[in-house]
Amino acid sequence: MPLIVQKFGGTSVADSQKILAAARKAVRAQQAGNQVVVVVSAMGKNTDMLVDLASEICEHPPAREMDMLLSTGEQVSVALMAMAIHSLGHQAVSLTGAQIGIRTDSTHTKARIQSISTERMQASLDAGQIVIAAGFQGIDENFNITTLGRGGSDTSAVSLAAVLNADACEIYTDVDGVYTTDPRLLPEARQVHQVSYDEMLELASLGAGVMHSRSIEFAKKFGVPIHVRNSASDAPGTVIGPLPEASGRVVSGAALTKNEARVTIADVPDRPGVSLAVFAQLANRAIPVDMIVQNVGAEGRANISFTVLESELEQTIQALEEVLSEFGGAHLSSDSSVSKVSVVGLGMAEQTGVADKMFRALADAGVNILMITTSEIKISCLVASSQAQTALAAVHRAFMLHEEPADLIGVAEHQSAPRADAADVVARLQGLEDLAVDGISLDASQARVTIDRVPDHPGIAAEVFEGVSSAGVFVDMIVQSDGSDGHTSLSFTVPGEDLDQAVQAAEKLCQAMSAERVSSDAQVAKLSVSGIGLRSHTGVAIRMFEALSAEGINIELINTSEVCVNVIVAGGKGDRALAALEAAFADVRR
Ligand code: ADP
Ligand code: ASP
Ligand code: MG
Repeated sequence: MPLIVQKFGGTSVADSQKILAAARKAVRAQQAGNQVVVVVSAMGKNTDMLVDLASEICEHPPAREMDMLLSTGEQVSVALMAMAIHSLGHQAVSLTGAQIGIRTDSTHTKARIQSISTERMQASLDAGQIVIAAGFQGIDENFNITTLGRGGSDTSAVSLAAVLNADACEIYTDVDGVYTTDPRLLPEARQVHQVSYDEMLELASLGAGVMHSRSIEFAKKFGVPIHVRNSASDAPGTVIGPLPEASGRVVSGAALTKNEARVTIADVPDRPGVSLAVFAQLANRAIPVDMIVQNVGAEGRANISFTVLESELEQTIQALEEVLSEFGGAHLSSDSSVSKVSVVGLGMAEQTGVADKMFRALADAGVNILMITTSEIKISCLVASSQAQTALAAVHRAFMLHEEPADLIGVAEHQSAPRADAADVVARLQGLEDLAVDGISLDASQARVTIDRVPDHPGIAAEVFEGVSSAGVFVDMIVQSDGSDGHTSLSFTVPGEDLDQAVQAAEKLCQAMSAERVSSDAQVAKLSVSGIGLRSHTGVAIRMFEALSAEGINIELINTSEVCVNVIVAGGKGDRALAALEAAFADVRR
């Protein structure tokens, strides 16, 4: 019999009427011939209220007790949902994370799922019951209650769908589906009808709060099709799945993250092991780092910039001051209240003109770009928080995201995952959240160009990349590092055969913009590690830096995304770097 997982978020179970409405959807799905598992979140703003309550009592509540407290929200919802189904004359059983057997590690408040047992759920389903599962929670090996991080019920739902080999995973929420950007931030945002796992992964991690980003990692890893729908209507929703590469759209969405802070360590010695020392120091303190940008140094010096949560800035600076003395002459600067505006789209990988369009839109809106980082399918720009809203609106318009795309493929049919055999299902129960690296690659065909010390003002990135692209050159990686002393550096990579043209264009721009100089490297090696969970597994970039540093290989440029970490090293060192990375990630290769 087909099996459906339906997840109802907080607003969709905010009061008794909404719980009854959700119960009716579950009953309807069962009557249509499905086995049904319902995953629920805490009612309304219950989790927020519990968080506030804890902070009134204690400035830094112990994480274990926080989980004990927060998990109660979902326990209320499952009981009420089961009662609602009974009241409709159907059978249901509510289960907590512990009762299901959702085993996690012991990282309270952001636990990772290790395994899920299916026996109890399957027995109840086979007995004709609707299973009501508490989202967001699990249990560690010592029976401590854990939670998966805010918004984690999506991850509960998708992981249950994965282990139960569900035919569909429906996420019911308070909007009609996934939009081109958060419709609360920008009313002209439009719903998209389908989006690929990779795009959604980037969007979710770049601020599209509609889905917990780890849930998309699961979905991609286990091929679970997700259907995001409005719990208050029968609107068709958005399908998140493995889409064909040619979806027609160059950019499918834009996103904003607020509350970040930028940290720059300027003038660090440009030698192997420096990035490792910096990021290992932060990893030791469990400070998650977001956008990492390292730019080529002049005269043996380099700049490393990255962002952390604004709330962790103080701790970050303290941690860095301890290692700073190892890099004679390096100095630290920081900037709180910055926001990251990003555009995401599969089409970007093949099309030129996306980057300069984004930079032009920001320039025309008077927004200064503080940092840039790119991946194959996204471009992120860091801007002052005071300009975040303007930046998002400008970029959204520039890519015509407010308009219905002409090539709309139509509402996707539910794609059913092929039913797996028993052995396959058992295999899914192991190592659910393990890191999975599916590609390590070397591209030795590119060259690097750097424009050093450009006076920092709105419009420089637009001028540079319009200049380069009008010379007919396809730009791959773009890195703009910090301009804290009023200057910034822009580096980018181009196909080796286009180097002369790119340098000529850069020289012209360098003069026009009174930048200091253009440097280039005719052959660089780009190494990419791609896979799932690269960002939420904080050690990945570090493992990469460690492997390269152990080989004595210096990193010239870095940029990171949710699905890929890219570094540029000197051309002659590509093969050795590739071998080092293959060895370093051998245990997690798929
Ligand atoms: P739930 O409680 O159902 O899990 P959430 O509040 O976690 O709901 O997620 C839904 C919200 O996500 C929407 O109300 C919307 O404001 C926000 N959101 C952010 N980015 C997007 C986006 N790209 N598309 C749709 N909604 C988005
Ligand atoms: N109730 C939890 C939260 O508010 C989990 C969830 O809703 O997904 O974060
Ligand atoms: Mg949510």
